[in-house]
Amino acid sequence: MSYKKIIEEVYERVKNQEDTGRLATYIPELANVKAASFGVHVSTIKKEDFGFGDHLEKFSIQSISKVLTLSLAYTILGEDIWKRVDVEPSGTPFNSLLQLEADNGIPRNPFINAGAIVVADILMSNLKNPKEDFLQFVRSISNNSSINYNEKVAASEKSVGFRNIALCNFIKSFGNIHNNAEEVLDFYFNVCSLEMNCKELSDLFLFLANGGKNIQTGKQIVTKRQAKRLNAIMQTCGFYDEAGEFSFRVGLPGKSGVGGGIIAVHPDEFAIAVWSPRLNKKGNSYKGFSFLEEFTTVSKSSIF
Ligand code: GLU
Repeated sequence: MSYKKIIEEVYERVKNQEDTGRLATYIPELANVKAASFGVHVSTIKKEDFGFGDHLEKFSIQSISKVLTLSLAYTILGEDIWKRVDVEPSGTPFNSLLQLEADNGIPRNPFINAGAIVVADILMSNLKNPKEDFLQFVRSISNNSSINYNEKVAASEKSVGFRNIALCNFIKSFGNIHNNAEEVLDFYFNVCSLEMNCKELSDLFLFLANGGKNIQTGKQIVTKRQAKRLNAIMQTCGFYDEAGEFSFRVGLPGKSGVGGGIIAVHPDEFAIAVWSPRLNKKGNSYKGFSFLEEFTTVSKSSIF
């Protein structure tokens, strides 16, 4: 059976399931989305792509952007990046301060907020115009110059970002933030506010299914080895303290965000994006998770 048929069938089934999730409202602007939205889009390395439902509606990709900042920082620092941030699952919520003190300000991994703030600091030190240069990087990977930040979402998060402010200053006290904390956070909030639809997201992440290479231009975005490692970190750390459960039930490397998006990658085959804004208790899209579980089961496309 083709992926298209399977995706369509699973989409219809999951669409009608009861959704016990809740919108992320701690960022006020994120509460303004249509809670029942549900879209899915797949892009394959054979250059097929198709989607269903609200797959062409833009949403806030939030923490999914952490894979993109890490990708760019990795190309700049190479393996030295791991002196600033570790690669172990944290087993704690995405915004936790708990382990930082014992770990001397080295975040457990780049996909929790603490780690992504350090990665943002690395980019601040290495890019001339961090916001513009990073956006340019994202646009070039996706071959799409319309991708942008949502300033309203960034400002909304900034107005209530007390946890992230605490994280950034705490890490700075250990010497692992080199720039002005306020400027690092401003960059971080903007990066989180990136907006995309499911099609744009799955097209963009195809480079990680394709050994780090842009499928359209043939340009190597990250090395093959770096792509392997980025996928490995997505597998082990991509879903807050539910990464084990995601591996167990879905079996693909991926990353979620509190905007309700999930991107999952099958190396050498496809990237699939799902968006449904109601989140389960651990902060992952309720329907997105269910959809991907059923999809990899029916299509036998778990990597395990
Ligand atoms: N901007 C969000 C925060 O820092 C990202 C959270 C997420 O999507 O995991 O709280």
